[in-house]
Amino acid sequence: MTLSERQARQTRLMVRLLSWAYLQPILASGDMYLKVTWVVRSSVYQKVLVRLRRSRTLKGYHQDGLAWDIQLYWRDGRPVWGRKHYVWIGEEAERIGLEWGGNWKSINDPYHIQERRR
Ligand SMILES: [Zn+2]
Repeated sequence: MTLSERQARQTRLMVRLLSWAYLQPILASGDMYLKVTWVVRSSVYQKVLVRLRRSRTLKGYHQDGLAWDIQLYWRDGRPVWGRKHYVWIGEEAERIGLEWGGNWKSINDPYHIQERRR
């Protein structure tokens, strides 16, 4: 992937993610809020994660900046864990053409959203 190709793909994803701003009022009217982190991981850092068994792949979408991690929080600041709380967000992600890690069979990762694999 060339640099400009990667930048174009990252930009398209960012635009899609910005549409998620509309999720915030829905969440805020309930008892949770959402944080999205976008970090481009280096190959060295990814190797560390694999060694720590926090990731299983050396060629992940995070290294190309084509993935985000999401985390819901209760109003008092405690993180919300458990796939069931993330299903509707995953459905939203799939609806706008993204891929939700909660649908994966191998490593089920409900806290992960990325560009759809081709
Ligand atoms: Zn992730």
